[in-house]
Amino acid sequence: MKRKLALLLAFLCAQTHLSALWAQTPVGDLLDSETFLQRAMQSPKSRRDHGARVEELLRRMTLREKIGQMTQLEIGMVTTGKDQDLRVDPVKLEKAIVQYGVGSILNVRDQALPVEKWHEIIRQIQEAATKRTRLGIPVLYGIDSIHGANYVQGATLFPQEIGMAATWNPELMRRLAAVAARETRAAGIPWSFSPVLDIGRQPLWPRFYETFGEDPYLAKVMGAAYVRGMEGDDIASSEHVAACMKHYVGYSFPLNGRDRTSAWIPEHYLREYFLPTFATAVRAGAHTVMINSAEVNGIPGHVNRYLLTDVLRGELGFQGFIVSDWEDIKKLVTQWRVAANEKEATRMAVMAGIDMSMVPSDYSFSDLLFQLVREGAVSESRIDEAVRRILRVKFDLGLFENPFPDPALRAQIGSPEAQQLSLQAARESITLLKNEKDLLPLPKNARVLITGPTADSLISLNNGWTYVWQGSEESLYPKDKLTIRRAIEAKIGGSNVVYVPGTKIVRAAGGPSNSTPTDIDVEVDIAAAARAARDADAVILCLGEGSYAETPGNITDLTLGEPQLKLAEAIAATGKPVVLVLVEGRPRVISRIANKMQAIVMAYNPSNEGGRAIADVLFGDFNPCGKLPFTYPSAPNSLVTYDRKAFETETASFGNVSFRPQFEFGHGLSYTTFSYSELRLSRERVRGDEELEISVTVTNAGKRAGQEVVQLYVRDMVASLTPPGKRLKRFAKINLEPGQSKVLTFRLRRDDLAFIGPNNKPVVEPGEFEVMVGGLVGEFRLD
Ligand code: BGC
Repeated sequence: MKRKLALLLAFLCAQTHLSALWAQTPVGDLLDSETFLQRAMQSPKSRRDHGARVEELLRRMTLREKIGQMTQLEIGMVTTGKDQDLRVDPVKLEKAIVQYGVGSILNVRDQALPVEKWHEIIRQIQEAATKRTRLGIPVLYGIDSIHGANYVQGATLFPQEIGMAATWNPELMRRLAAVAARETRAAGIPWSFSPVLDIGRQPLWPRFYETFGEDPYLAKVMGAAYVRGMEGDDIASSEHVAACMKHYVGYSFPLNGRDRTSAWIPEHYLREYFLPTFATAVRAGAHTVMINSAEVNGIPGHVNRYLLTDVLRGELGFQGFIVSDWEDIKKLVTQWRVAANEKEATRMAVMAGIDMSMVPSDYSFSDLLFQLVREGAVSESRIDEAVRRILRVKFDLGLFENPFPDPALRAQIGSPEAQQLSLQAARESITLLKNEKDLLPLPKNARVLITGPTADSLISLNNGWTYVWQGSEESLYPKDKLTIRRAIEAKIGGSNVVYVPGTKIVRAAGGPSNSTPTDIDVEVDIAAAARAARDADAVILCLGEGSYAETPGNITDLTLGEPQLKLAEAIAATGKPVVLVLVEGRPRVISRIANKMQAIVMAYNPSNEGGRAIADVLFGDFNPCGKLPFTYPSAPNSLVTYDRKAFETETASFGNVSFRPQFEFGHGLSYTTFSYSELRLSRERVRGDEELEISVTVTNAGKRAGQEVVQLYVRDMVASLTPPGKRLKRFAKINLEPGQSKVLTFRLRRDDLAFIGPNNKPVVEPGEFEVMVGGLVGEFRLD
């Protein structure tokens, strides 16, 4: 007994110690990306051994009950009514939960619900599951908490992933993901379909803003932070939920930029660029994964046994369960045409490795899979394997002990501290791209004209996955949150501000997606805006996008809408200094107007605190520190990433014009200046498993305190696969007071110098390398 107690104490101490480590982690300052990443992968994860309970339960289950667990339906399959009148329909509930024994329900019917409504619905679902079914297995409710608990009214929302990436602050990401988890769980929901770990290398793709940008290293650090924030040390805790890595893998790189269309990605590039985020998130403990709705190299994600089973399980060691994406088994027939009928598609997907099907609006999956097993086309052992994985997650979540929403948790939603953290993230994300003649920060006694379609819009600040799928319902946004215009009025006084919209973004049918209305730019009164500019000291021109999610956000041209460009030109023609604020989920091409703007500020989709954050930056209450997590193109047909081949930038040979983006990946200015000196490498030759230490001194050479993201890149000079010009290997975000210097030390391991060779395995090739930090270059040789 005593021994057991001692062991328990030791265990608790270890837990406290590691949790305390997290708790003490400064948000930024001197915690380099790799230390963070290693900690994220090593800290304790809730993998209690529920094996015996799972097996015992599995033995008692009928085939129907097992298949029920593998079935996921949308909430409309158990409810009736709309919006706030949504309520459980007893007949539907009986069919789904009692008759079919459905294991999982997902999402909202139409819009975000008040927490009380969530409790009412989930309690009834769980009562049916736990009290009226033979074995009482609780339902696993899942939801898209994409940038906070965005389907719970009053929840704390934070910048979309692309903005979080621009903070280069994984600890901030971890804390905000923990907020999202706490507020999702407070609604009674223990599973979130996030983070998105797809790599944003195709900016046309309408889900670009859901990614951490184009670089696999930055994305894997931020992704691991997200998973750890969501899952904590124990997903049974009322503070955490199970995360879902998505969308495995290669979804984000469609050839034509349109959602859910084909990608061609050779396997070695798939492994080099698209797989690392998933590999890292598996090691960070993620319990579930959702699959790429589209296809890679002609093989739809949902039938790719090699990727789903051999790679994900065999190589990456993933032990959780695999859920399909929306209706994707049916789409194997209707869209991809790799199966002649749904029964065949069901067999193919389950045998490839799908454990749970997001059906989501009928019972076809359950019925067809039952037939397939009866006919011997799918073995019962494959079914057992899938159900075992699903039950294990339910046990890990503590659902068997406590399936019901806890009314005491309601108070956790939207706390002032959480909103403050969201404000901090919005501030840290904002990226100052251009600041000619130090136009910014503006003095607070300036008279400004605010114009443009994103100036007075919470919709633009948030984008999709906000209260409704498309983020497009103005009436659902909180009344106390400030748009850019309102935040500036609050800061400098309404009498110093004139607002004239100039153009607007309206929702209309007839965009490139014909199924759902999409955004269209229209002129309101450009001449009125230009007239108003004449009386202003400066113009704050807010351009960008409205809101969209998935396929309805398809576009065929990255160029910013013509009315917006015309507005910018008319304003510039007045000769007044112009600050262009971009509120957009992907880099819309602005080369026609960029030179006419004295300052350019990239805000991404900073969410509900974004208006305040932008005002803080524009008027100097916050010193900007965001850095672009993608390459900002200067032309719609010139889409290249920062890790392009060196010759693409350096030479203009054979009539090729060298590639010059509008703004480079990693770029972002400050109101102070940072100087880099004393780049030192611990050795000139690296042998065997020796580590290379790289140190650099960074000094705040200006007059204001500021934060800098120190970025370390490596260039492989010669390699058997044409080497990229450079790759990001490490970064660290630091605070510096005016005149202050800090010495940073980064360590590179041999495996940091590897690349995936043509045989799809990592190779390390001896030879010359360059290390680049803040404009300084060092060299070493790898033996
Ligand atoms: C999206 C997923 C999402 C799912 C459930 C799908 O259309 O691709 O990202 O998790 O719907 O809402």
